[in-house]
Parts: sequence; structure tokens; C-alpha cells
Amino acid sequence: MKYYSTNGKAPLADLEKAVVRGLAEDRGLYMPERIPVLPADFYAHIQTLTFQEIACTVADALFGEDVPEQELHRIVEETLSFDCPVVPVTRSIGALELFHGPTLAFKDVGARFMARLLGHFTRASLDRRTVHVLVATSGDTGSAVANGFLGVEGVQVHVLYPKGKVSPIQEAQFTTLGQNITALEVDGCFDDCQALVKSAFMDSSLTERLRLTSANSINVARLLPQCFYYFHGYAQMKRLGLAGQLVVCVPSGNFGNLCAALIAKRMGLPVKRFVAANNANDVFFEYLQTGSYAPRPSIPTLANAMDVGDPSNAARIFDLYGSDWERITADISGATTSDEKIRSTIRECRSRYGYLLDPHGACGFDAVYHKLAPGESVLLCETAHPAKFKDIVESAAGVEVEIPERLAAFMRGRKQSVPMSADYADFKEYLSELQ
Ligand SMILES: *Cc1c(COP(=O)(O)O)cnc(C)c1O
Repeated sequence: MKYYSTNGKAPLADLEKAVVRGLAEDRGLYMPERIPVLPADFYAHIQTLTFQEIACTVADALFGEDVPEQELHRIVEETLSFDCPVVPVTRSIGALELFHGPTLAFKDVGARFMARLLGHFTRASLDRRTVHVLVATSGDTGSAVANGFLGVEGVQVHVLYPKGKVSPIQEAQFTTLGQNITALEVDGCFDDCQALVKSAFMDSSLTERLRLTSANSINVARLLPQCFYYFHGYAQMKRLGLAGQLVVCVPSGNFGNLCAALIAKRMGLPVKRFVAANNANDVFFEYLQTGSYAPRPSIPTLANAMDVGDPSNAARIFDLYGSDWERITADISGATTSDEKIRSTIRECRSRYGYLLDPHGACGFDAVYHKLAPGESVLLCETAHPAKFKDIVESAAGVEVEIPERLAAFMRGRKQSVPMSADYADFKEYLSELQ
């Protein structure tokens, strides 16, 4: 499979190049040149298959030309060492719980898959040089990436995070790991961290000497495996008799997860329509209403993993539909949810249905609740465990949220981080010592 750039001015890349580079030479995002359609027989029997069996079939179609089958299946099986169950919430809404991975966020699957795929390419490559992964994080991405890459041979991860601006749980998830993970505690804000990473990628004196890559959802190896969820979610809704007119609702920030869902539909998954749920950072919602796309700076909300003012994967979605607003709005509708509504939704869903949402899932629930046509049912992505947002959820729902053992274990580890100023010269000096 070849990958093209959404900016259309870079040469086609093979999977290895797309994964190792992340971004194309023209700063565009890579997309698969063709989206394979899975056979009708697969959909007819999908409800009898396990998550791993489903994901192996999907992975074969997407990556089978580029990775030997046995190796690919091993990567999929290691990535999916946990389930993503559908929990019925109302008679027509099923929550697809994407948060049962090591850091309790849906980003675990993409990060683990990418880490293993990168490990495969490094082992297979002739020069065997270490690949350095740089990630700037405001919390969730850093923990998922650090845990996903932990112990992967040939890969070193450097997590840059703003000092004093991530939650103690999040900080513990990437500062206590050791091994091939280094946390850099930057005296600045998230934008400073991101600027440092960007400067490094544009510094040819570094990129000529070091193999540098990024692990955010611009990387196809993080983006594409997220489509496994939708096939597995569909299979479970089918078992519940709820897949006839299926609506898929995705709480969205950078729109990588929704983009993966749209790709699943192109692969033949029978989805009637999609709902993109936003918090107050709702540029995409506005685009769906007006047809004009106007990025703006993000503002902080209770659903902070969706605080994105200029979603990077919007370019991929426009590309999938040939930038045709009518075709996009025929498939996708949007919604926007205020912080106040997030709180009342968490409370109401808990008291009426006994289901505890996190603030991101609450945006999704609000986007579809009482907004369905007769006969429709919803696969609602619940993207984080409510315990990750313990204070907000407890005060909104008036119940206590137990911290799962997996999360508590991080808090007992020893914090190790490298202090760093927000000045690029310091970061460059740090990188200069790497091999
Ligand atoms: C990252 C994240 C999102 C947004 O996902 P995108 O793919 O960036 O749209 C939503 N919820 C949670 C909990 C997240 O961590």
C-alpha cells in the first residue's frame, strides 16, 4: 500500500516511510492510496468473531502488503490485550468503552500499535539506528504513548510536559516508567512544549543526524488501528439486535478517532451516519453548520482532551470527501456541549440509567440523547475512564469514583524527570547528546 500526502506535493510513501516520518515533506498528512472494501461474508459473520479476529482481518486489508502476516497478527494481538465492550445505557444507546487499556484512555490502542510497528521496522532495517519519538503532551497523549512504547527495542521516547500543569495521575503515568522513556518537565505551557518539538523537527542539523519521529494522531500508525473499534462495536451492537440503523457518535478533539470511523465505513462497515461531538471548542461544528472552516485558539473545558482549536485531522476528513460540504454533512452531523451541560449530563445519565460518563463521553451522550430518528440506535464512544476525571465526575454525579488498581499503581512509582527551560537552545543541547 502506498500513502499520499493530503497537500498533494510530496512523493508517495510506503508504510515504513509514512510511519517513520509522520508528516509528509510538504507538511501534509499521509492517507492510504486506496481503502480496501472487506467482503460481504465478513460482515455477515462479524458477530461471531472476537475483537482480535476482527482486528486481524482489518489489519490484513490495510497493512498486509507491508508487514508479514505472522508478524502483523502478533502486533495486533499484543496491542489488543484488553477488550472494548459495549455496555447498554438506554434502549437505543450502547457505550463502546474504549478505555480499558493500560492508561485508561482510548489512545492506548493507537500508541501500542504504532510502537510495535515502529519496533518491527527498526528491527528489519539495515542501519538499526535508534528511533527517537518526541511527544508534547498536556496529559493524555503522553501517558498513552509512554506506556505504549515502554520496553520497545530500538525506540527512545521523550515526553515534554508543562511543569505543574498536568494532573498528578497523568504525571505519574509518564514520569515513573524509566527504561526507554524520559520525561522532560518544561518550565512553560503546553504550547511551549509543542513549539520545542516543532523546532526540533525543523532543525536539519538534528534531523540529518538523528531518526526523529512524532507519535500524535497525524501518524497513520496511530490513526488507522483506531478503526478496529468500530468493527468490534458494530459486531456487538449486531449481537444486541441494534445494528439495523446504526449511528456512531465520537467525542472529538483532533478528529483522529472520527476519521478512523469514517475509514471503517469506506471499508464497508454498515453505518447510517456519524455524530461528531464537540465541547465549547467547536470549530468543526461551526463548519458543519456554515460550510466555512475557521480555526481559532482553544479554550479550556472540563473535557480537556478535546480542547483543540485547529483539529489536525480535519484535513484528512476534507480529503476523504473531496472537500464537498454537502457530502460531508450527508454523513456527519455535529454537536457542541458547554461545561454546564457536561455536568448536568453526567448527573442525569447516572441517575436515570445508572451509567457513569466521563466529561468526554458526556459530550457524546448529550449529542445524541433524544436526537434520534425512529429505528436508529447509537454506538457511543466512551473515550476515557471516569476515574481519570475523578473530581469533576464526583461533584457532578454526587457519587464516589473508585480509582482502578492500574491507575493507583502509577501513583506509587518514583517520579523521575529532566528539568528543561522553554528555550530551544536547552532542548537542542539535550538532543545533541543522543545517538
Ligand atoms: C484524545 C481524546 C479525545 C479526542 O480524540 P481525537 O481523536 O483527537 O478526536 C477524546 N476523548 C479523550 C478522553 C481523549 O483522550
